[in-house]
Amino acid sequence: VFLLDSFVTRLEVVPGRTPFVLQDMVDLQPEAILLGHGHGNHADNAAYIAHKDGIPIYASPETCDVMQLDAARIFGAGTTVDCRGIVSRGSVPGSEIVKLDFLEPVACVTAFKHIRSGTAPRDSAFPLVPVNNIADPRDATMFPSGVSATTVLNTTTTGFGSPPGNPAGAISLFYQFVMRGDNHFTFVWHNTGGPLKEGLGSDPGLPSPAIGQRLFDIMSSLPKTDVELGSVVTSASARTACAIPCSTSNMSSRRSTFRGT
Ligand SMILES: [Zn+2]
Repeated sequence: VFLLDSFVTRLEVVPGRTPFVLQDMVDLQPEAILLGHGHGNHADNAAYIAHKDGIPIYASPETCDVMQLDAARIFGAGTTVDCRGIVSRGSVPGSEIVKLDFLEPVACVTAFKHIRSGTAPRDSAFPLVPVNNIADPRDATMFPSGVSATTVLNTTTTGFGSPPGNPAGAISLFYQFVMRGDNHFTFVWHNTGGPLKEGLGSDPGLPSPAIGQRLFDIMSSLPKTDVELGSVVTSASARTACAIPCSTSNMSSRRSTFRGT
């Protein structure tokens, strides 16, 4: 078991809207936590779980700095976590393709720095697919607000992942997992995706059309992918609403305005 991000929506002191609590994540005893990027709505709780379970976090080196801040804040000065920066500090997206061996011999994991979401004009190269984010009107009645877990222990990440002087939060990573064995089942995971064709994004790391093209080239070079776990809509969807049909056969399909949060 491993975690792809560690944020939990509406984490409360007793099971509520989310039917588990933080201790359940610790008790799950994951072997590792992979962070797609360091913003709080992805990386909250990571340092807490990693320290409690004695497991590594894989992230950018900049986010690892924040994980150490989190560990010291939550558990006391001098407490550290095993956080492994998988690309070079300050590197350009796509300039390094790395292998992670923590799932060997079960799976091969490949990762590279991605571009986080950004707002771009609508791309007319494919049909607009509006995303209608319609809440269930019964939700508030069915799941009344409980007591936020942060009122007991604040396990959120410091500065929402970008404390003063550290741009870590937006630095994004893309992961591919290839199962070894007979079927080579393959999936990718990324929790954001910038407008690569336009080369826009909020990451430090100089997004540009050329860098976006480089990321397309890397995706095209990867083994064929069976399932993509990714972000297909952004919080800016009211302006840029698009959900992109995901390729289930080949990552070379272009997602020119593929966005997430
Ligand atoms: Zn984010």
